[in-house]
Amino acid sequence: MEETGKMGDGGVPFWRRSGARYFPLSAYFKREFGGIVRKISVDAHFSCPNIDGTVGRGGCIYCDAVSFSPGRFFGLDDVDAQIDDGIRQLRRRFDVDRFVAYFQPSTNTHAPLDELRRKYEIALRRPEVVGLAIGTRPDALPDPVLDLLAEIAREKWLALEIGLQSANDATLKFFNRGHDVATFVDAVCRAKERGLRLGTHVILGAPGESRDDMRRTARLVVELGFHSLKLHHLYVVRNTKLARLWEAGKVEPPSLDDYAEAVVDFLELQSPETVIERISGEASEPYLLAPDWTAKKHAARNAVDVAFRRRDSWQGKFYRG
Ligand code: SF4
Repeated sequence: MEETGKMGDGGVPFWRRSGARYFPLSAYFKREFGGIVRKISVDAHFSCPNIDGTVGRGGCIYCDAVSFSPGRFFGLDDVDAQIDDGIRQLRRRFDVDRFVAYFQPSTNTHAPLDELRRKYEIALRRPEVVGLAIGTRPDALPDPVLDLLAEIAREKWLALEIGLQSANDATLKFFNRGHDVATFVDAVCRAKERGLRLGTHVILGAPGESRDDMRRTARLVVELGFHSLKLHHLYVVRNTKLARLWEAGKVEPPSLDDYAEAVVDFLELQSPETVIERISGEASEPYLLAPDWTAKKHAARNAVDVAFRRRDSWQGKFYRG
């Protein structure tokens, strides 16, 4: 194959020149912004419809709902103060002066429009902040919220991350997600109508899901067409319903080798232009219960790399766009 700077034109994508097997976020940011950009996690103290009773209570079975109470996470209430803190910490570690404010915990579109606008604008006022990433659920995206995001996206870089987890309704039910696949597809279509840059999250290794089931999820992701993708393995943390199932021996998270094969299956089908933001979930002591490889730095990355090499494969190998 001819090597080109473009992707999807029959040539080798630019990110493969460095030996990468998938398109990492760092390479995307470099291409998009001409240099290093890092994400700062922002907790704007939104609630979650699957916890506060809007669609359900108790949350997804893998979610530590206790964490979603006031005063959680970062300790700093104020969005501005969190960004200050994030910039200070990242500058200590990296030579970086541009940032994306990542509205991360809970459901960051689940609030009245004026509150959403006010909180997003606090981040956007900062000259160092070049854009927003907003994590949410498919059932928290009414049209007026999508219109607001589209309005912001006309001025600033914006990525909307809509959680899917699986294209299998039985798995979504088991996870107690509180929405089905059709709700996800509807939200994605309405967001795409507005030209929004979309990302999604998928969990691999759900109980009862075969490699073919996970490939079906991969195909739905391809069909809908996402700018970015985060893959997580199923892992168990304390204070969750999943922890109780795991302790009772009713659930077993995937082995590292099985997970790596599932990731390669998934990425082979994706477009080479989809940015891969994550290839595994992260959790550490004392919260993590299983699998123990979750806590080993780079374990998933190395295993995925080995699987890609053994299979002589890469992201997009079987993409039929
Ligand atoms: S949607 Fe997110 S915040 Fe809400 S319960 Fe599920 S994992 Fe937790």
